[in-house]
Amino acid sequence: MQNEDWVTGNIGLNIGGKPLNMQVTVPANPVKPHRMLPIFHQMTNAFVDISVQAIEASGKKISCKAGCGACCRQPVPLSEIEVYQIAELVEAMEEPRRSEIKERFARAVVHFQSIDWFEKRNKCAELAETLSPDEAMNEVFKVILEYFEQGIPCPFLEDESCSIHPSRPVACREYLVTSPAENCSAPTAESVDVIDLLVKPSENLKFVGRSRNFNKMASIPHILALEIADQFPENFIEKKGERWLADFFQMLTQREIPKKGVKSKPKPKNRPKKRRL
Ligand code: SF4
Repeated sequence: MQNEDWVTGNIGLNIGGKPLNMQVTVPANPVKPHRMLPIFHQMTNAFVDISVQAIEASGKKISCKAGCGACCRQPVPLSEIEVYQIAELVEAMEEPRRSEIKERFARAVVHFQSIDWFEKRNKCAELAETLSPDEAMNEVFKVILEYFEQGIPCPFLEDESCSIHPSRPVACREYLVTSPAENCSAPTAESVDVIDLLVKPSENLKFVGRSRNFNKMASIPHILALEIADQFPENFIEKKGERWLADFFQMLTQREIPKKGVKSKPKPKNRPKKRRL
């Protein structure tokens, strides 16, 4: 289907041996990449559902439920496009809510600055390049745990529920556990069993539409979103929705998605290993 502003198409994927057919509607005209987030959210939800079905088929059960916001005291890694989406979402809120949410962000930043948490996080990211995967994971866990121990809820958490649920970040959509919900209040690497997703879009979204604002940063903790957006005005290029979608799938599959009517280039010799969807 095509009208002036939107194009609708069907996507067929195979994820972990399971077929997934989706209909997606994308902007027909060039847009900034953060306008694509509702579509990336739709896809993330579908990918997470397939992983959940596989987990449940193995006899485990997801223990996350509405009104349990224990995990919303962790740092949420945001891609660049999510930083600007969150900043716009807050900016679009009515007063006095907008000021209240901004105040929560500011208070959280001040607190984590006071314990040098951002420096520790940056150091951890640097260390990750020299450590083994297990050692790096341990360091990441320590930094996340220190954040969690501060007990500072996400600025969007209200009555232990996400107040921006339909627009919540991709990393929040991906975080589901099968361990008892009460374990999330005092998490350890052993007591909380986070599900392994068959596909993790947050890992790929980090690179979609990345501008020179984010050249050196892979992701940033959510509480810095407003400050970053303020400090570095959005600097995205525009592309048609179908091209942003192609970029997303290219990252996800490590395969080049050719433009319509253009043959794909021959594969380079050291091409990264293909991931099976
Ligand atoms: S955005 Fe929503 S789901 Fe994510 S941490 Fe914040 S309150 Fe929780």
